[in-house]
Amino acid sequence: MTVRTRFAPSPTGYMHIGGMRTALFNWLWARHNGGTFILRIDDTDQQRNMDEALGPILRAFKWLGLTWDEGPEIGGPYAPYFQSQRGELYRAAADRLLREGKAYRCFETKEQIDEDRKLAEAEKRPYLSARRSLQLSESEIQKFLVEGRPHVIRFLVPRNQMVVIDDHIRGRVEWDAGLMADPVIMRGDGSPLYNFATVIDDTQMQITHVIRAEEHLSNTPTQVLLHQALGNTLPQFAHIPYVAAPGGKEKLSKRKLAQYRNNASFKKLCDKGDAVFTQIGLSGQAGLDPVMVEFYERVGFLPAGILNGLLRLGWSLDDKTEIFSLDDAVKLFTLDRVVKAPAGFDPDKMVSYQQHWMMQLPLAEKVAGCLPYLEKAGLIASPPTPENREFTARVIAALGDRIRLFSDVLDVAYFFRDEITYDEKEFAKRLAKEGVPALLAGYRDRIAALLDWTVENLEAALKSYCEEQSQSPGTLIHALRISTTGVPIGPGVYECVLLVGRERALTRMDQAVQRVSHQPLPPNP
Ligand code: GLU
Repeated sequence: MTVRTRFAPSPTGYMHIGGMRTALFNWLWARHNGGTFILRIDDTDQQRNMDEALGPILRAFKWLGLTWDEGPEIGGPYAPYFQSQRGELYRAAADRLLREGKAYRCFETKEQIDEDRKLAEAEKRPYLSARRSLQLSESEIQKFLVEGRPHVIRFLVPRNQMVVIDDHIRGRVEWDAGLMADPVIMRGDGSPLYNFATVIDDTQMQITHVIRAEEHLSNTPTQVLLHQALGNTLPQFAHIPYVAAPGGKEKLSKRKLAQYRNNASFKKLCDKGDAVFTQIGLSGQAGLDPVMVEFYERVGFLPAGILNGLLRLGWSLDDKTEIFSLDDAVKLFTLDRVVKAPAGFDPDKMVSYQQHWMMQLPLAEKVAGCLPYLEKAGLIASPPTPENREFTARVIAALGDRIRLFSDVLDVAYFFRDEITYDEKEFAKRLAKEGVPALLAGYRDRIAALLDWTVENLEAALKSYCEEQSQSPGTLIHALRISTTGVPIGPGVYECVLLVGRERALTRMDQAVQRVSHQPLPPNP
């Protein structure tokens, strides 16, 4: 059997992290088995502009490198892959079920059905379709159709049976068809309902494994009965537990962003995004929050980091292995290792996978990833000049593993521009102290006279000067860092001074000394 899996998103204008994980599991299962992965667009309810609605979904697949073998843009043997263009198939199947007496035209009004439901509720029994329309004669039906009476097509549930599946994740699941209402399969306007279109497409596209979110488990008995009524071979099913909200138990939802901000790790990532998007002119763009895949791309994650994070959201090899490349995942992925409990979404973990993969990245690729951020923030030329590239490479090399996301390069804007913003608290703590401004000024003059600025020379000068002044080097090192970069953290302090550059470093030291002399010193303790 050639494995064929599919991911069938509704084009909503964004790609949810949970949906992407479902897609990844489908993709991996197909690749693991040397099979085929299909992207099918569930757009029967589509009112929006298709480019806008589908664009971000395809973008996410392309960014992550999850290629599809059949689907939008490339077509395939079962084209079209847009449900909105497959109406003929659904209508033909519905006609067949009508002809075979397995479906019926239902002329019951909503009021009538509501009343039936209420009655069932009052009598504490499950609601079952009253099937009044089954009593109509063929000529009555024809008359109603000519009159244009509103109606739908319902599937006639064969009530005297159990529906059973062996789900790859949930195990054996059973439903009593005797408790099921007759589902609508076609609306009055001739458009298909989800359950019906899915069954027709899964069969026509020869899908072998339906791997999808567990919220669809409740649709499965209807789909199984429809498959049986049409004489189809059943696909295998695997219902994946949902992705839970950060720090919570309920399903991760894009509607609860405000609430998730109470979670420290979620908030940290949102804040990072806000800061980055403001600097690169993306703030306010819809869909840029950590529930959406595009957020991670725009804020400078690597596909490998996100793929690793998505894989571990609900799949595990053993109780210790955390790091998987996509190739590893293709080799190792099996459905029986999908975790049965909901997977908690933890932004900190996403960052830690990302950090791992960023550490593996060659310098040139890090530079290539960081340049667009500097460009968009106006910190270098656009397109970057050879000097921009060379200098950025020096900065990235100095930052080493401090670069976790490409946008982290914006944290060291002080290397790229003349103006400097001080961390005021640290400035006061490290510089506004008796004797420190004079010490910094003295060191400044020493190194101004030094011809050859290297890490070693700057360091030797600092040590000997502090010794002469009977001061601890630490005091001066902190003052030097704050005065030249504005912040208390970063690469090695002498490397920072070199990257800031002779002219700018000397000017900044002067400026810092000046600044303190205009500020009252705190009283001596
Ligand atoms: N369009 C459905 C969804 O996005 C597809 C469900 C399925 O895989 O059957 O949830």
